[in-house]
Amino acid sequence: MKASPLLRAWLTRLQEKGVTFHTRHKWMGWTDAGALRFEAPEGEATFEAAATVLAPGGASWPRLGSDALWVPLLEARGIEIAPLRPANCGFEGAWSAHMKERFAGAPVKSVVLTHGGESVKGDFVVTEAGVEGSAIYALSASLRDAIERNGSAMLKLDLAPDRSEERLARDLASPRGKASLSNHLRKKAGIDGVKAALLREIAAPEIFAELAPLAHAIKHLEVRLLRPRPIAEAISSAGGIALSELDADFMLAKLPGIFAAGEMLDWEAPTGGYLLSACLATGRAAGDGAARFLTRS
Ligand SMILES: Cc1cc2nc3c(=O)[nH]c(=O)nc-3n(C[C@H](O)[C@H](O)[C@H](O)COP(=O)(O)OP(=O)(O)OC[C@H]3O[C@@H](n4cnc5c(N)ncnc54)[C@H](O)[C@@H]3O)c2cc1C
Repeated sequence: MKASPLLRAWLTRLQEKGVTFHTRHKWMGWTDAGALRFEAPEGEATFEAAATVLAPGGASWPRLGSDALWVPLLEARGIEIAPLRPANCGFEGAWSAHMKERFAGAPVKSVVLTHGGESVKGDFVVTEAGVEGSAIYALSASLRDAIERNGSAMLKLDLAPDRSEERLARDLASPRGKASLSNHLRKKAGIDGVKAALLREIAAPEIFAELAPLAHAIKHLEVRLLRPRPIAEAISSAGGIALSELDADFMLAKLPGIFAAGEMLDWEAPTGGYLLSACLATGRAAGDGAARFLTRS
């Protein structure tokens, strides 16, 4: 099912159950008397709530509404919040002008990326600033943390994951005839286009003179990454409300009757359904918690 019919069906079901939606209401915190304050098209609106479930998301893609305005509001009420950081994000490196001009936007297919003891087979894209794409996102937490610790991170790249280094060296050692090195690399090792450009960009020039070091470089290229792309471009956010602030019902123990769910909580996961699953699961748990709270009070 596509997302929009699914959402429409879901909204209809909620409306049938008596849910009222107040769209274009921006939550701005609480009044001194404890009512919820909203910025609404007609001006400020306030609501007295017996229980509140907060789910305003993290800080990625703020143009969709998740602008993390809630962070200072909850910090002011004494809630511990781990800084929001980009997760499932691209990274910046330092490409040469040639690499940026010729290869920004080029997909690098069927490679193995390794960082922090974890390897991912897949694709990524060379961008003007650095790298992005599914295989990068899968390693993004480890890369981001390494950059925070060390100032930069070395991403290992195997450009020919289906051949061993020995096999690659053997294939490259076959007679070259009059073929240029570029043609030889393309024919014998399947390295051309953006993969050849990465090799020339990163590997030391002298390795192109000998076949064994060249085979080694194709299997063990290292790209230095300097910083994650800004959180506004990331697919999700790490950080958020410390889990120690929540009770077993996802209620903020310091603010009875206020529950929290989704990306605003301090966890992170790879993309590919895990983020949505965790948001839905914590939403369900917080909703059940709020229902139990209302029954008790
Ligand atoms: C481009 C992109 C692709 C993604 N792809 C995947 C994927 O393939 N698989 C996957 O699992 N996850 C994916 N995600 C991540 C996933 O969408 C999020 O983790 C998830 O939607 C977060 O849910 P949430 O309910 O916590 O917050 P959100 O979905 O961000 O919703 C928060 C809502 O609260 C509203 N809001 C915020 N502040 C206020 C306020 N003060 N007052 C009123 N309303 C407010 C926002 O407008 C927004 O509507 C993707 C994210 C992006 C950006």
